[in-house]
Amino acid sequence: MPWTERQRAMLGAMGITVWTPAAARRDDNAALPAAPSSLRPSQPSVQVDKRVAPLAVDARSARESGDARSAREAEIAALDWPQLRVHVAACRACRLCEGRTQTVFGVGNEQAHCMIVGEAPGENEDLQGEPFVGAAGQLLDRMLQAIGLTRASAEPARQVYIANTLKCRPPRNRNPEPDELALCSTYLRRQIELVQPRLLLAMGRFAVQTLLDSSEPIGRLRGHVHRFGERPVVVTYHPAYLLRNPADKARAWADLCLAAEQLAR
Ligand code: URA
Repeated sequence: MPWTERQRAMLGAMGITVWTPAAARRDDNAALPAAPSSLRPSQPSVQVDKRVAPLAVDARSARESGDARSAREAEIAALDWPQLRVHVAACRACRLCEGRTQTVFGVGNEQAHCMIVGEAPGENEDLQGEPFVGAAGQLLDRMLQAIGLTRASAEPARQVYIANTLKCRPPRNRNPEPDELALCSTYLRRQIELVQPRLLLAMGRFAVQTLLDSSEPIGRLRGHVHRFGERPVVVTYHPAYLLRNPADKARAWADLCLAAEQLAR
C-alpha cells in the first residue's frame, strides 16, 4: 500500500517510521530507515482462524437466571438504533449504573465498514458521553488516520463506528468484571448486528475476551485474522497500553496494516 506524505506524517505522530518499497522511495525519503521486515506493511501473513466466537462470556458468568437472561437478550436483539440507545441509557443490569454520570453508547457511521471495539469509558468519556475522548482517544484518532480512517463524518468506507465492551465507567477505571462484560456484551452484539461491519478491530484484552472468548495475550493473538461469527476480527493493543508501552507501536502499525488489507478485499 503506498503511503501519502500526510499518512507518513501521521505515522510519525504515532512514533512509527514507515517502510517504503525501494521502487517507490523518493530522494527526499532516502534518509528514512527501513523498518525491520517484521514491521513491513506486507507483514504479517493473513491466517484465517475459522473458530466461531459467539460472545461466550454470556454463558459463563451472567448474574441473571438463564430464563431472565434469555428474555433480556431476545428483547435487546430485536431493538433498532433509537430503541437500543434508550435501552442502554436506562440500563441498570449491573452495579456500574450506580457510579456513572451517563452511559457511553458509541459513535460513528452506522454503516461503517470498520468497527472499533474498545474496553470501557474512562473519566472523560463518562463526562462527555463519547468513547475514546481522552489521551488514548487522541492516539486512536492518529492510528485511524494513518490507514485513511476517521471518526469524523465521512462515507462508510472511511468513517468508523466506535463502541466499548462496557457502556458505563468502572469505578476508578478498574478492570471490567466478568459479569459486567457478560451483561453489556448483549448491547455490543446488537450494535455489531446493526452496523454489520466488514471488519472488527478489537483493541485490548477485554475486547478480545468479549469477541473471541479468549484470554490469550494480545501478543499471541495479533497477526492473524480471527472470526466473530462470520466477521473478520483483527486484534491489536489498546491505545492506552500503547501510551505506556510505545515500543509496541510498531506492532500496532503492523496490525493496522492487516486491518487495512482486510478492508480492501
Ligand atoms: N478506553 C476505552 O477502551 N474506551 C474508551 O472509551 C476510553 C478509553
